[in-house]
Amino acid sequence: MDQPLLELRGVSRSFAEGDGTVTVLRDVDLAIRAGEMVAIVGPSGSGKSTLMNLLGCLDQPTDGSYRIAGEDTRTLDNDALARLRREHFGFIFQRYHLLGDLTAADNVAMPSVYAGTPSAAREARSHALLTRLGLAHRLDYRPSQLSGGQQQRVSIARALMNGGQVILADEPTGALDSASGDEVLDTLQSLNDAGHTVIIVTHDMHVASRARRIVEIADGRIKADRRVGDEPKALAPDASPALTDSSSGTVWLRVIEAARMAGIAMRTHKMRTFLTMLGIVIGIASVVSVVALGEGSRQRILKDISAIGTNTIEIYPGNGFGDMRASAIQTLTTRDADALSGQPFVASVSPGVSTSLTVRYRNISATATISGVSERFADVRGLSLAAGRWFSSDAVTRRAQEIVIDDNTRKTFFGSADQALGKILVIGNVPCRVVGVTIKKQTTFGSNDSLNVWTPYTTAMTRMLGQNYLKSITVRVADNVSTGAAQSAIENLLKRRHGRTDFYVNNMDTIRQTIESTTATMTLLISMIAVISLVVGGIGVMNIMLVSVAERTREIGVRMAVGARRGDILMQFLLEAALVCLTGGIGGVLLAWVSSVAFAQMVSGFSMVFSTASIVGALLCSSAIGLLFGYLPARNAAHMKPVDALARE
Ligand code: ADP
Ligand code: MG
Repeated sequence: MDQPLLELRGVSRSFAEGDGTVTVLRDVDLAIRAGEMVAIVGPSGSGKSTLMNLLGCLDQPTDGSYRIAGEDTRTLDNDALARLRREHFGFIFQRYHLLGDLTAADNVAMPSVYAGTPSAAREARSHALLTRLGLAHRLDYRPSQLSGGQQQRVSIARALMNGGQVILADEPTGALDSASGDEVLDTLQSLNDAGHTVIIVTHDMHVASRARRIVEIADGRIKADRRVGDEPKALAPDASPALTDSSSGTVWLRVIEAARMAGIAMRTHKMRTFLTMLGIVIGIASVVSVVALGEGSRQRILKDISAIGTNTIEIYPGNGFGDMRASAIQTLTTRDADALSGQPFVASVSPGVSTSLTVRYRNISATATISGVSERFADVRGLSLAAGRWFSSDAVTRRAQEIVIDDNTRKTFFGSADQALGKILVIGNVPCRVVGVTIKKQTTFGSNDSLNVWTPYTTAMTRMLGQNYLKSITVRVADNVSTGAAQSAIENLLKRRHGRTDFYVNNMDTIRQTIESTTATMTLLISMIAVISLVVGGIGVMNIMLVSVAERTREIGVRMAVGARRGDILMQFLLEAALVCLTGGIGGVLLAWVSSVAFAQMVSGFSMVFSTASIVGALLCSSAIGLLFGYLPARNAAHMKPVDALARE
């Protein structure tokens, strides 16, 4: 006759145990032809299950060869073995091994997911199979809602899902009462009649007597092999649906299925998933907030600057910000200012001095910053008035004892802005009339409660300070001149006048650049800290995924038994980790947004600007964390040996 379907030759299987090895199967020769119904019997511990696992390609022999339809399984890689299990074998286990989170119909359909059958066809076939096995009314029941006999029928349907040319049943009746057991045996017998090759492992001679051939095994050796029924009919098994394994189209189906499984896993462990996500939520929320805050303050400062105008140049004594000796330098004078205002590239010049003095009104006194400025200062700095006016150029020439006060000063001494107008404040010991009150200024960070008073620089220099040098000169460059060119012309002019460089020059454009680079650096730094929290969150995800893989080892075994490739298992757990993190990322973005709204209500001047790029970036980042930290656990899962995974309880 033609070649056997399954053929073991000289097969041994030993396991490492302690220091040595135990040999469970020794030199087994066994040939099974298509259409046979074989019972493998023997006492408990004789190696029946080990033999069955070898036959089903869940395990591989230590020695000897195993050929399926003439092909040596030793030459096959993991995916090819998975394909054999998926397309040719159907397993029935003593303990059913159904997945508790799936309905009966979904359990039955699972093998065809890995074969890439479209979902409509999957559903139709799983319903048809369950109906054929008398479970039409239990399609949506979970395994825990079914009796043992019903569960075993579901598992028979699952074995048939992809065709089940060879049915491997390991003690299929072992956990059933005799009535249910007989039903299962009847079903197996009718499957054999229909052309399926059926191999039953049992320790029960009564069960074995239903087979047409009995192979007895003891101590890992075959003791007897006798035929008790008729020769097998050389029938092809029935309806083996055309199963395509063509990759491209089916990969997508498998991704969707893996995502669905990940969703189910997340739902079954809500609390755990939530806590795992929390790390990611907090990490993403802080990254997004920091970026939005940085962007908000940057935009705000830039808006302030553009109100001042970038064609403004400031001149200070000293050699840069924070120069300690600057206050001792007295060479910057009003004559410099006059010389500058005579230049063709200069639109206007505003000299400036400042000091702190005690301000008194009746019995109230407070310290204020007194700035001596020109009549153009309000324009140059974009200050608006709540009441009154700014002092005139005439007041500057006359050294008029006029002042403009800010909102803080107004609050300190007077009621409303209008009440302040015309009142006399004593600055140091100079009485000055209030001619204007500025509106409250929004500051970028927190509130500023310092008092500011402006007076003509001539008044400040002669009457209050008695100094003839300036603290700063602000130059507004003429419209048609470039700020850079004007800046070098100013530097040359002052150098000539002073004979050396004892001043430094800032233009608003450089300040803008400084602010931009400072906020960028700050954002980067704080983001690094936030990234650390994300990494911590990621480690949490990895930890939980390791737990999840350990908990679901049996599920992994079942999936592998029905033909999941390593890639499928890897994808399922990777997707689960990525989905947890992505959901966490979405939660984080929402949290950042909600907290920005809440802060904006409480703190004035608090602005956060969310950009699409930062949100998309955050979501990509969180998914990437999932993939990164989920990889190790997922790889562990994918690299399990099916037989080990199934054996784990
Ligand atoms: P049966 O199914 O006939 O009751 P098994 O094939 O399950 O027997 O096991 C046969 C023997 O092999 C037992 O003594 C068991 O302890 C041993 N065995 C099975 N699997 C392993 C393994 N993975 N590692 C070590 N020993 C094993
Ligand atoms: Mg066993």
